[in-house]
Amino acid sequence: MANLLYQCLFAKHENNTQPLMVFPNGGTLSYKDFLALSRQIANLLVSHGVAHGDRVAVQVEKSPEALVLYAACIQTGAIFLPLNTAYTETEMAYFLEDATPKIVVGDPEKITALEALAKKHGGMVFSLDGNGAGSLLSQASEHSEKFLPVACAADDLASILYTSGTTGRPKGAMLSHKNLATNAQSLMEAWQYSPNDRLLHALPIFHIHGLFVAGNLTFLSGASMIFLPRFDLDGIINCLGQATTMMGVPTFYTRLLNDPRFTQSLVGHMRLFVSGSAPLLAETHRKFEERTGHKILERYGMTETNMTISNPYGGKRKAGTVGQPLPGVLVRITHQDNGLPVADGEIGMLEVSGENVFRGYWQMPEKTAEEFRDDGYFITGDLACLDGEGYYQIVGRGKDMIISGGFNVYPKEVETCLDDLDSVLESAVFGVPHPDFGEGVVAVVVLDQSLQQASPPTEANLKTDIANKLAKFKQPKRIFVIDALPRNTMGKVQKNKLRLSYADLFS
Ligand code: AMP
Repeated sequence: MANLLYQCLFAKHENNTQPLMVFPNGGTLSYKDFLALSRQIANLLVSHGVAHGDRVAVQVEKSPEALVLYAACIQTGAIFLPLNTAYTETEMAYFLEDATPKIVVGDPEKITALEALAKKHGGMVFSLDGNGAGSLLSQASEHSEKFLPVACAADDLASILYTSGTTGRPKGAMLSHKNLATNAQSLMEAWQYSPNDRLLHALPIFHIHGLFVAGNLTFLSGASMIFLPRFDLDGIINCLGQATTMMGVPTFYTRLLNDPRFTQSLVGHMRLFVSGSAPLLAETHRKFEERTGHKILERYGMTETNMTISNPYGGKRKAGTVGQPLPGVLVRITHQDNGLPVADGEIGMLEVSGENVFRGYWQMPEKTAEEFRDDGYFITGDLACLDGEGYYQIVGRGKDMIISGGFNVYPKEVETCLDDLDSVLESAVFGVPHPDFGEGVVAVVVLDQSLQQASPPTEANLKTDIANKLAKFKQPKRIFVIDALPRNTMGKVQKNKLRLSYADLFS
């Protein structure tokens, strides 16, 4: 038995001297050197007892070496467990207790705290900073560059990613070798990825988007990436000239559009811009096309399912939709109350099935069982509908749906109506407790600063502007103008924070 993911992503590159990564300072890291270093780290891990199925938890700044560590874990048969750098010590205590990793790799500044936490569960700690310095690499350098990958079957776990989870405890999504390998293959086919591609990589690598969508697709296709530590406008603008593709969360694209240096001539040579992890406003899609001539390719997926739906590379890319199911992925929309398929065009729960779908939540069999149907479909928790051309539209998270006076209000519909106003850049709509209606609809809007509005609209103006476009029960009872929507690092609007801030509005 071979090691499935190693065979799929890395084996063919063992002697590949082409660059895998290029850096803004002109330096490069070849596939061959990347893999040689990964084998040294694999030997180090194994020398400290890491075996098939052990967890290796990693909370480090983005660096090439952090990605090398991922490749090393795969070869040892261990389960790679990346953690958001923003997690606090209290949050880390939960993750380490839940996952009981054999090895924890952390930033040198946090190492003392991590050591105390890891010790409780018999874990050992190495350090790695954003420049690749620390005990992980210094100790790995003493190990051999030869390593025979440990055999791993298709269903063996390659990674656990904790989902951000707006309610309840974060859940560890267990992703198998097969889940990751098949999804990279689907994306390579769908987006026509090739060794000629050079991806501008500015996403974090503790999340599925930057790690598996961007990373695995690059490895599988033999492409290269311009590896930036984070998204910053100067860095992106400087590097776009050498890239052929870019993957981003919607905020990357809105920020680029706010910069006058972002022009058609800067990106005329680009092949593809991909957006995902949060909804891309149809208006951003249109503005992007007007400015650059490129239609952003929006796709949809989640940690538990990998990528499932994508606008086509060759066909029509429809603003405001996430496209059609990827090869090998089955998608259906079911009724929220009885789980039966809804008629085309109706809103319901989005469910997916395929080899891309994860193996369940780590040590939560009951939670896992709750979210799968008997026939294997996973209930994503997103609400969606199918349009007349076979394109899916994401309407919002199921739990974000508002029930006001017994009527269902889909936040996305109200947000679209507000976003369509000239004065509004973006909005978020949510429900808070209301003594009379159960929940009251509330909106926050960010005004379009580019218009430099002489007399910005008041709450009353905004209410009047949408009054004849939405049924009364959908209209927000209050609309607040705020400076910026609260977002997490992946660009997702944090509605839980908004709900908390305005919780007492009607009490
Ligand atoms: P994560 O597991 O962090 O990748 O989050 C997955 C969630 O992000 C999905 O369940 C959706 O709610 C949301 N999401 C991802 N891509 C899109 C998209 N293109 N449009 C709307 N929502 C999206």
